[in-house]
Amino acid sequence: MNTIRAILYDAGRTLIQPRLEAPDIWDFLGDQLGMKLARERALPDVGHHFYSRFGEDGMGAYDSDERARSFWASYYIQAMRETGVDLPKETLQSAADALYDWYQEPEQWLPYPESLETLSRADEQGLSQGIISDWGTDLVPILHAHEITQHLDFVVASAAVGAAKPHPDIFRYALVRARLQPHEVLYVGDSYISDVLGARTAGIAAVLIDREGRAPEVDCPVVTSLLELFDLLD
Ligand SMILES: [Mg+2]
Repeated sequence: MNTIRAILYDAGRTLIQPRLEAPDIWDFLGDQLGMKLARERALPDVGHHFYSRFGEDGMGAYDSDERARSFWASYYIQAMRETGVDLPKETLQSAADALYDWYQEPEQWLPYPESLETLSRADEQGLSQGIISDWGTDLVPILHAHEITQHLDFVVASAAVGAAKPHPDIFRYALVRARLQPHEVLYVGDSYISDVLGARTAGIAAVLIDREGRAPEVDCPVVTSLLELFDLLD
């Protein structure tokens, strides 16, 4: 991979993680609804919800701030309904909106332990770096608060460019913006479908990050830490 000039990253669960765990989410929603929700309950599968909402245009559930918000609102409403909460839709909607707003605060996110070291090391090696993420336009303030943007040449958030992963348009947009050819880029993300298959559709080699070692056998390189990317580059 010695023609690689840039490492591009997914954001959520690749460079940064939510500080909130499921019990915090149930507590927050319960407070909004004025009731106690069982804290130990698992949340519904996000990936399943995401892929079931693909629009006919294939641009994904995240191609605008409105669609990103409505994706998460419908997800939280479904989660609350599955716990047996029997309240009017508007009540659930306003609790879900409040949770979405809470997630927009930078302090609700944390970089992974090796994220900043990886970004610094790539800087030292003279690599370009950028982010291609399915996210609302609130992504940049979050990255900025965690001192990630100083290592980046660009951030492409799906809601800002009108195309979301795994559609190749979001990857193509980033390539044009960074003046990179697909073969010059290594892309890393935690979703096989959105990140690996999406990047590949745009001709970009992709690596799956699987920190918990839960992924099935896949046809791409798999790392458990971002620092392992440098082994692939050597
Ligand atoms: Mg991700």
